[in-house]
Amino acid sequence: MSQTLEAFREYLKKLNRYNRINSLLSWDMYTATPRLGYQSMADALTWFSSEAFALSTSDELQKLLEALAAPEEYEQLDEAMQFTVRTMKRELDESRRIPRDFYEAFVTARSASMQAWQEAKKASDFSLFAPHLENMIEMTKEQCGYTHPGKEVYDVLLNQYEEGMDSAAIDRIFEELKEGLIPLVQKILAAPQPDSEKFRGYYDPDDQKKVQDLLLDYMGFNPDAGVTSQSEHPFTMAFSRNDVRLTNNYDPENPISAIFSAIHEGGHGIFGQNVNPALEGTPADDCRYMGIHESQSRFYENILGRNRNFWIPIYGRVQELLPGLQHISLDEFYREINHVQNSLIRTDADEVTYGLHIIIRYEIEQAIFRDHVPVKELPALWNRKMKDYLQITPPDDARGILQDMHWSDGSFGYFPSYLLGNIYDGMFLEAITRDLGSLDSLLAQGEVKTVTRWLGSHIHWYGGLRLPAEVIRQVCGRELSAAPLLNYFKEKYTELYHL
Ligand code: ZN
Repeated sequence: MSQTLEAFREYLKKLNRYNRINSLLSWDMYTATPRLGYQSMADALTWFSSEAFALSTSDELQKLLEALAAPEEYEQLDEAMQFTVRTMKRELDESRRIPRDFYEAFVTARSASMQAWQEAKKASDFSLFAPHLENMIEMTKEQCGYTHPGKEVYDVLLNQYEEGMDSAAIDRIFEELKEGLIPLVQKILAAPQPDSEKFRGYYDPDDQKKVQDLLLDYMGFNPDAGVTSQSEHPFTMAFSRNDVRLTNNYDPENPISAIFSAIHEGGHGIFGQNVNPALEGTPADDCRYMGIHESQSRFYENILGRNRNFWIPIYGRVQELLPGLQHISLDEFYREINHVQNSLIRTDADEVTYGLHIIIRYEIEQAIFRDHVPVKELPALWNRKMKDYLQITPPDDARGILQDMHWSDGSFGYFPSYLLGNIYDGMFLEAITRDLGSLDSLLAQGEVKTVTRWLGSHIHWYGGLRLPAEVIRQVCGRELSAAPLLNYFKEKYTELYHL
């Protein structure tokens, strides 16, 4: 090993130790820190984060990366190290182009904006948030001007979350999906709906936790390399393939929400546990592309978890653990977990209408960054699109444009990755059926772990090494299309709703 490479590996270890501390502090703040202890944890996190930022943009690191990027050194590196050098060098170059005082002003503006959003949402008053949103939009544009001069801002933003995916491709695929979804949703909403009343009751959070353990085991989550905890919003954090942590939130009146969060986060967790150990400590050791990551959690949640056959081998045990479900048959349960409604809130949406919620956000982000639509016109635009696509009008902005936090901290371009995840899933479903035969019969035999092994060897093993478009090409053998997802919806819901 060259001396430069040795020095770089040592540097990477140091950086990883700082990142480990940062993750641990965040994990603790979300899951354990008491209210009064929060501030001192936040102080520590700020200090360690700025140390880590300084380390990842230092002159020393820049020299190491430049030396390793020189052809004679670069060609000697293995694939994971080449990826590491390429990625870190690009990120360092981008970060170093941002002026220090602008960066600090952005951090301050972001926390003011997040706070204003919370207050605006509580009061359902968009005008409280509007000036902050304007500010976040302007500062985001300015930042893109530093990091990616001359590039179209919205393309840069999309690339942050789903590298290599340009807006022309997303436009085409989302349009294809929208054309198919709107009439399908109209038909479903006009059909007789299942009766949710039977599900009313009390579901002990401790019992719900036992169901979660059952489900994680059923899916193939390794409890020796993972733990679960509770937080207000469920999430997953992978410290390494041997330490994957996930949370849930148990609503005593609604067992279905925690059941599907357990399956969703379990999907993220299994991904983290199955990454090639050789990638450990590199930027590829966790999948950095949000659409691909979401495709895995959503494959478990929707394609597997909302399939009737997934439940055949275990529904009896779920009923034993949750006595409130004992008078509900498997068929009634299956209908309820696939209940299509034109809900106001994205996070409550079923798998079919979910896509339209995302398309609305995507179109509004385009209106902001491409068509420069003024912020004050956005709530009306939001409501008009809800009416056109979902036949429902938000009664207030809290349940309309103010519902999600993403725009308050400047995460523009993030929303599309959720829907890309669903679209990838349609394609993965096709590929898995080609390789393993009918998913319905595998699930009826309780073979979820066979599916986990397939996802593990085709997708999880590579972590973040392959760009999303490469994953799709290699796993599915063709270009991205919304048609497989649309076919899946049409087939499943035509039968369920007797369309
Ligand atoms: Zn997720």
